[in-house]
Amino acid sequence: MTAPDILERVRTLRDQIEQHNRAYYLQDSPTVSDAEYDNLMRELESLEVQHPELVTPDSPTQRVGVKPSERFATVVHQVPMLSLGNAFEQQEVIAFDKRVSDTLRQAGLIHPGQDVEYFCELKLDGLAISLRYENGLLVQAATRGDGQTGEDVTANVKTIKSIPLRLKSEPNGPNSVGVPEILEVRGEVFMNLADFRRLNERQAERSEKVFVNPRNAAAGSLRQLDPAVTARRPLRFFAYGWGEVSEALPERHEDILNWFVQLGLPVNVSEHQCVRSAKGLMAFYEQVGGKRERLLYDIDGVVYKVNALAAQRTLGYVARAPRFALAHKFPAQEVTTRLLDIQFQV
Ligand code: NAD
Repeated sequence: MTAPDILERVRTLRDQIEQHNRAYYLQDSPTVSDAEYDNLMRELESLEVQHPELVTPDSPTQRVGVKPSERFATVVHQVPMLSLGNAFEQQEVIAFDKRVSDTLRQAGLIHPGQDVEYFCELKLDGLAISLRYENGLLVQAATRGDGQTGEDVTANVKTIKSIPLRLKSEPNGPNSVGVPEILEVRGEVFMNLADFRRLNERQAERSEKVFVNPRNAAAGSLRQLDPAVTARRPLRFFAYGWGEVSEALPERHEDILNWFVQLGLPVNVSEHQCVRSAKGLMAFYEQVGGKRERLLYDIDGVVYKVNALAAQRTLGYVARAPRFALAHKFPAQEVTTRLLDIQFQV
């Protein structure tokens, strides 16, 4: 390709991706599959790596999601809500582990020959949410939006049964859990597969909007102007991260999730695992891949996070993602299910 051809292709890819972003994040109605979207994004990333002079700060490769919809009040995130770097191939996972190990070894955080410890989680296919608790009370909930500013969905989130309105405090109990002054909990709002099918059946019976997949059903159900509609939708939540926290944090990612459990927050504990090295990461990926079909909810991959917070701080961030974490995606599942004479991609 000549230089003008490359520039033209980069522009076309950016326009297409922006269009898909609006359909997916603002209308909760994607018009292409995630695999098709990921291919466009990968092509753009690869052209930008080969031609760094074409990278612009507003390229979709440098930004997260889209600006919040004007239908909602906005919330400025005190700590940005980022995306995740992703990998599809084993080689990319090995390269990630090597980058992490080299940096931590140079920083003196691991010894030569020592493997990095990773915390492995499922990558739930829902939408990210930030819950702000002040003195134990849920005061605000926001979507990720463009990472800096999200949509205020507080009233809607308060209708989700698994999200506590008040954190549990047991200052005199055996674990002496103190409730922090400020705690922003981050996690995923999602819908179980069986609930999704029932919801779509009901929607079709009433000639109302049917959703393409559980992810879009969860997003469309949460991003409602009337919280009474959200309240009728079977939404669930798992916490996997945090934003602003007024307390000193424990040393490992794992310890923070255990603290969340003590505070009464839902955490997907039974699916978590601590492993070492790329070999451990691949074993986790294979194991989850083997039971993916039997899970009650959709996942689109697994997530690896460097467990030690000191190491996370050393690794830091690139424009739209942390360097200490990686989403390892499963191959696309383009199964077409016939349900009430409607074609769905699940
Ligand atoms: P991403 O979904 O690849 O990864 C980041 C997100 O993972 C987080 O925001 C969070 O919501 C989620 N997540 C789930 N489990 C997690 C865990 N345990 N720890 C941390 N995060 C976890 O990136 P993205 O920027 O949110 O979205 C890009 C993806 O969305 C694309 O790869 C594509 O699959 C999909 N997409 C599709 C279209 C389309 O038109 N089909 C358009 C836009 C985006």
